[in-house]
Amino acid sequence: MKKGTVYLVGAGPGDYRLITLKGLQCIQDADVIVHDRLADPRLLSYARADVELIYVGKESNRHTMRQEEINQVLVDKAKKGKSVLRLKGGDPYVFGRGGEEALFCLENDILFEEVPGITSAIAVPAYAGIPVTHRGIASSFSVITGHEDPAKTETSIRWESLATATDTLMFLMGMENLPYITKKLMQNGRKADTPVAVVRWGTKPEQEVLVGTLETIEQLVREQNFQPPAIIIVGEVVSLREQLRWFDNRPLFGKRIVVTRARAQASNLIELLEEYGADCMQYPTIAIEEMDDYGKLDQAIVEIETYQWIVFTSVNGVEHFYKRLYDAGKDSRVLNRAKIAAIGSQTAAALTEKGIQADFVPQEFRAEGLLAGFGKQLNGVRILIPRADEAREILPEELAKRGAYVNVVPAYRTVIDASEAKALEEALRTGRVDAITFTSSSTVKNFLSMLAGKNMEQLLKSVVIAAIGPITADTARDAGLNVQIIAQEYTIKGLTEALVKAIGNRG
Ligand code: SAH
Repeated sequence: MKKGTVYLVGAGPGDYRLITLKGLQCIQDADVIVHDRLADPRLLSYARADVELIYVGKESNRHTMRQEEINQVLVDKAKKGKSVLRLKGGDPYVFGRGGEEALFCLENDILFEEVPGITSAIAVPAYAGIPVTHRGIASSFSVITGHEDPAKTETSIRWESLATATDTLMFLMGMENLPYITKKLMQNGRKADTPVAVVRWGTKPEQEVLVGTLETIEQLVREQNFQPPAIIIVGEVVSLREQLRWFDNRPLFGKRIVVTRARAQASNLIELLEEYGADCMQYPTIAIEEMDDYGKLDQAIVEIETYQWIVFTSVNGVEHFYKRLYDAGKDSRVLNRAKIAAIGSQTAAALTEKGIQADFVPQEFRAEGLLAGFGKQLNGVRILIPRADEAREILPEELAKRGAYVNVVPAYRTVIDASEAKALEEALRTGRVDAITFTSSSTVKNFLSMLAGKNMEQLLKSVVIAAIGPITADTARDAGLNVQIIAQEYTIKGLTEALVKAIGNRG
């Protein structure tokens, strides 16, 4: 990005991943980002740590900043030599006032670039299973503002030609005027039985779709209290939804699932759940922190070549061990004498990334399962276990009983993260949660302590509780929770599959 330049960037229609590569690069580079409510916060997480974020609001009822002020901010920041990104929903030039912002830059001798975005006008129908053109059905489309005040005597929309000139019509910002729009179209020659769809929060997990005709849609919207933001799609292509629906009929679509894992670890679970259509709510209960004192681990690394076995029990254990190893100027080559065991396929995968194929990954992903692989006699065998500061004791104890010298060194610690406690309670209280996932005993314990003193029975009344495995499930049951789902394979994938089976839309 060039300094002193304003970039008008389209953020895409809703799902934050529908941004262009160039748009994302701009976010990663920008000195200043000026954004509004349609931009997903997850996009902003790609920005530089020292980025200046300016929120300019724009909810139709309470404008946080007027357009002239926004223009001025863009120019002022660029004049200070900053690279300024104006992030806009959909495409900046489709009812986004991007053109005005560009003209204002020119008037003030500021350079600008426009980075197109995927407009909601086309993407939202697509996510509802409606192609805007289709061979033999629709060979043209129009995108129209539905925002025009019906009381205006001079309309800038030429309804008499618009109603029938193109096959498919998309109205943006039109929900308030829906009765007016449908009336105008019918008055000007569009048939009353023309299919119509309204799509709310398209491309997002909250997407809702209502289908009717020019004649019926207004009443359907009223009955269902269907709210903006939504797009109105008029034309025969709407009928294709029956066959081409792909997004809002996935197995977990619309299911609101709480993820309690540490923020840093939650992404793979969230991605998988989202692939099945779930609406994930991230309320971390755990944070992973460095140890204050790495004396023990560092000492173990010094004498690493004296160990016959190194046992990794978690991805975090692998990552933190390697961080200290690299800091000491060493790498995987110093592990060449030891056998390596990994509990869990994720742990094994984390090792593979470091160039290590674990010698032993137990069939059963639990400490108990691991023990079987070492054999009964371990006299004098030196075993290193870098893992969480506080973890279950059974593994080292059993190994020691068999004669091994076991050195358990803390590689990281987990602490309770209660920052979202209020939001979590609110979500439960207002009935916005379908299921809660627990991926370890600590997530259960911390979850309960975050809600200590609250009426758990009431809060969890209609919530399904899912545990990654039997140990986590036991912890939850011991605490009085009603666990309905236990993954058969104790992995993130197993947990997701168990959820699909238990609460999925198609059984
Ligand atoms: N520049 C944007 C449009 C801005 S106007 C673009 O190219 O998409 C805002 C209107 O767009 C909303 O009132 C609504 O009609 C429509 N819109 C934007 N995102 C939407 C979404 N995810 N679902 C449904 N409608 C959406």
